[in-house]
Amino acid sequence: MKRLENNGDQRNQGFCVHCGGVYKTDDHVPPKLWLDDPLPENLAIAPSCRKCNKACAENEAYLACLLECVIAGSSDPAKLRRPKVAKLLASNFSLAEKMDSASRTENGQIVWNIEADRVKQGLLKLARCYAAYELNEPRTDEPESVLWMPLQSMTPDQIEEFENPDVPAVWPEVGSRAMSRLVVTGDGYENGWIEVQPGNYRFMALCDGSLRIRMVLREYLACEVEW
Ligand SMILES: [Zn+2]
Repeated sequence: MKRLENNGDQRNQGFCVHCGGVYKTDDHVPPKLWLDDPLPENLAIAPSCRKCNKACAENEAYLACLLECVIAGSSDPAKLRRPKVAKLLASNFSLAEKMDSASRTENGQIVWNIEADRVKQGLLKLARCYAAYELNEPRTDEPESVLWMPLQSMTPDQIEEFENPDVPAVWPEVGSRAMSRLVVTGDGYENGWIEVQPGNYRFMALCDGSLRIRMVLREYLACEVEW
């Protein structure tokens, strides 16, 4: 990916994009754990305080493991497709225990018990980074909604709307990265979607009255955070 400079104003610089606290560390967006090596160049970085950074890391690890387990239909690290996550799960006892106890078999089908708040916090964190990084609109307030659903559970109409939303009625702020992308081509910018790593992660930032960040994780989970 090309690194696009954020030429917007100073609103999102110098404080934690999650809580407005003191900027101490950089958060990679998406987290490196969600991507395979070699990592794409120029991953987005968002300022974060230590407390939020730590909380985010736990939720991100949970979500990465959960997704791989659901996709594999097993919490056995040897059966997971992404080596990075398999390695983490094999070495992290508490995560492994969490994954083991998250699934049960009902009528021959595996049912996963999801810690909804962890998933919500994990997605919200990313959305806050993108709001600040892509749209230059830092949002530390609570969003209107945080939604997620497997793509395969969506109706054809829902998928169509999710994948190809109407052109934003209001364009992103001049100087923001999303604005820059409208004039930069050949940057994995397809139909508004920015593909960070094929098969693993893509996202879209929409600014049409409300502010919406859409993400697709592992081409499995469709997510949207709206303010
Ligand atoms: Zn913070």
